Amino acid sequence: MNVTGHHAVVTGGGTGIGLSIALGLAGLGMEVSITGRDEERLGTLADMHPRLHALPMDVTDEAAVREGFKGAAERHGPVCVCVANAGIAEPARFRHETLDHWRKTMATNLDGVFLTFQAAMATLERDAWGRMIAISSIAGLRGLSGAVSYTASKHGVIGLMRGLSEEYMGSAMTFNAICPGYVDTPIVERNAAQIAASQGMTEDDARALLARGNRHKRLLATDEVTATALWLVSDAARSVNGQAIQIAGGQVS
Ligand code: NDP
Repeated sequence: MNVTGHHAVVTGGGTGIGLSIALGLAGLGMEVSITGRDEERLGTLADMHPRLHALPMDVTDEAAVREGFKGAAERHGPVCVCVANAGIAEPARFRHETLDHWRKTMATNLDGVFLTFQAAMATLERDAWGRMIAISSIAGLRGLSGAVSYTASKHGVIGLMRGLSEEYMGSAMTFNAICPGYVDTPIVERNAAQIAASQGMTEDDARALLARGNRHKRLLATDEVTATALWLVSDAARSVNGQAIQIAGGQVS
């Protein structure tokens, strides 16, 4: 499959890992719709790059996702590559976790992937070629202290992806999840600021603490995740299906 000129959607494509993957897919010649809630940021990026297209939408809003994908497919074609990347990571100790916060995390990180994949696949013929990629986390494979709802949501993403890979077995569509360790993005910046404030340390020390959470003790760069996503889109990965691929500087599980 030559993806040049074909359409990809990257949710949360305006920042961090999502933006890096979106630029990587655009570099393959794909027309890439980037989603998120920050309409202005998406518009600025689309103005700067001829193959990035702003698609503002909230992944927790079912109607917005279904209508958004439908409209984007009318403009740029069926969504044969979909990267469900949008997510939040707001640490909370279990005893302080509220049901509202639990539901917000699930709605964004898990329901959002369900809606995203279903809306993308609705734009494709039954026998179409497709690459559905979810950005899970090491928290999809093991527990993270202070992040029970995040851990549960990212485990759920892997279950969703594995179920789909079985249901579509034998088709030209693959489903995989990428499970990064700590990556140098705005999520880590925000978490470092929060740790610094709550534990009375500098933000640099808090970043170093997070980096030590990776087996090789350094933060990952976004291009390390992007390289895996581009490989999954390539013909070389046509038999890679139903996998949770760890990028964490060492074994996680
Ligand atoms: P960012 O905060 O930069 O990216 C999160 C993206 O998700 C933003 O572009 C944001 O856009 C979007 N988003 C959040 N909520 C919604 C929503 N309700 N609707 C639509 N878009 C939404 O951080 P990362 O790049 O690090 O995160 C990307 C993914 O990678 C997440 O799923 C995260 O869990 C995962 N991950 C990150 C790791 C890390 O260490 N950085 C490690 C492992 C996994 P906007 O605000 O405009 O809505």
